[in-house]
Amino acid sequence: MSSKVENTGVIAERADHGVTHVAVSLCSFQPVQNDLLCNVVMVKKNLKFVFGPCALQALDLVDQRSVTCLSSPSGRKAFQVMGGSGRLYTCFVSCHYCPCPAFAYTVLRRNEGLLCKHILAAYLCQAMGVTQQESVSDQQMSMLLSGTATP
Ligand SMILES: [Zn+2]
Repeated sequence: MSSKVENTGVIAERADHGVTHVAVSLCSFQPVQNDLLCNVVMVKKNLKFVFGPCALQALDLVDQRSVTCLSSPSGRKAFQVMGGSGRLYTCFVSCHYCPCPAFAYTVLRRNEGLLCKHILAAYLCQAMGVTQQESVSDQQMSMLLSGTATP
């Protein structure tokens, strides 16, 4: 991986797979420093080590601002994540659940992973403060929680 930082703070070469966007997002209000970029690269390596291949896919979802936090007047929250195929998944971070096939197969059935790319993207967007916010009524939230809402 090669990347360098110009004096203007603009990253001249694109690091692979989303890292650049994360770096720019993390420091859009201050010049990019070499050590910060190194930290981002380390974070990416650590994410991949802990969460496997879904870490890079989750970073793509973060880049695309695919995570929306729905909140209702009663204080309930759910996350909607737009998957790569354009399908919307409603994730419940509070109980660590996503209805996608990867979560069912890798996490629940084979116990080979901790989470899917959608839940990881929701965590990352929350941590970076880039989650889109949307208010829904309690009735809409109740339909989402019961799985009877049409996405
Ligand atoms: Zn998922």
